[in-house]
Amino acid sequence: MTLDDRLLDVRGATVRYAPGRAAVDGADLRLTCGRVTALLGPSGSGKSSLLRAIAGLEKLDGGEIRFENNVWSAPGVHLPPEQRRCGVVFQDYALFPHLTALDNTAFGLRGGSRAQRRAQAMQRLIAVELEERAHAYPHQLSGGEQQRVALARALAPGPDVVLMDEPFSGLDRRLRTDLRATTARALRQSAAATLLVTHDAEEALALADTIALMSEGRIIQTGAPDALYLRPASLTAARLLGEIEVFDATVSNSHAATPLGGAPAPGFADGAPVCVLVRPESIQVRRADGDGALATITERRAGVGQLRLVCQMSDGREVMARTLLSARHRQGDAVRLSLDPDAVHVISASAA
Ligand code: ADP
Ligand code: MG
Repeated sequence: MTLDDRLLDVRGATVRYAPGRAAVDGADLRLTCGRVTALLGPSGSGKSSLLRAIAGLEKLDGGEIRFENNVWSAPGVHLPPEQRRCGVVFQDYALFPHLTALDNTAFGLRGGSRAQRRAQAMQRLIAVELEERAHAYPHQLSGGEQQRVALARALAPGPDVVLMDEPFSGLDRRLRTDLRATTARALRQSAAATLLVTHDAEEALALADTIALMSEGRIIQTGAPDALYLRPASLTAARLLGEIEVFDATVSNSHAATPLGGAPAPGFADGAPVCVLVRPESIQVRRADGDGALATITERRAGVGQLRLVCQMSDGREVMARTLLSARHRQGDAVRLSLDPDAVHVISASAA
């Protein structure tokens, strides 16, 4: 049996805290061993509730969670958390304040001698590059170090499933980027099925093999990061992954016309109302003597390596474009805008 055959399968999971709308509302999700799945959604969409249901910390009101052939949760069935072989990294890390990094890491280990358990825990601390801080207490550790202890503790017993709830949210940007790499390495070594809960699209895109998008208690789309980014199935999915420009259009001869040029719309009938979705970096900005739709730059903001431009077209509509910082566009410049036809995506207007 290969790792790919080992699955955590969530079907129709429903968690309801009170009468009315369920916090998790018929969610479907599959986690594969050896792979990282990001659960991406806005605050309040039900991500933590779903994670807690998988860990066995919430009971299901409907649906089923199974790992391989074992039912973990179903109506009337609830395997206790300690029997699920799940490692959890909570948002606040939840380290034991009176235990050192090493003893925190060894906490969930069973069997063998104390020396063997400590040696096993030390291996996990080495995997997250924290062996030098093994004898420090949580209050002596930085936020990033605490996060790595929490990860080492979750991985130490060799769990089948690792669940991480916004593990980088309390950390500054630079540290987050460094920790992502360490975390990704440690997770890939572990061969567990990992669920990384986040509201940060960049983090999901950087770390995950698969992204599941959550909105209002439901998983609305699942796929590879680049596929979701470039070919979202709906406007909600598109917006969860980053900024997007939307042009309403009507299909004619498998083409959708927008003010910035035509987009291929294969598979749509003539006259079908559609939305043409374009990421800001796929809007090409050229000098006014080139081809494209005439516009004026009304706002210019420098970001990390990129320039964010708001361009007003002749009909008054504003369009956002991103270019390289080295492109010397100035506020007030007249420019020509066009689409990168390979990077536009057309969806039915009813999916908007
Ligand atoms: P997320 O992690 O995506 O921010 P949560 O799963 O925490 O979302 O919350 C989803 C919804 O369930 C929210 O409306 C939240 O207020 C509600 N909720 C979460 N936990 C509880 C709880 N223990 N009791 C009652 N309502 C809860
Ligand atoms: Mg949450």
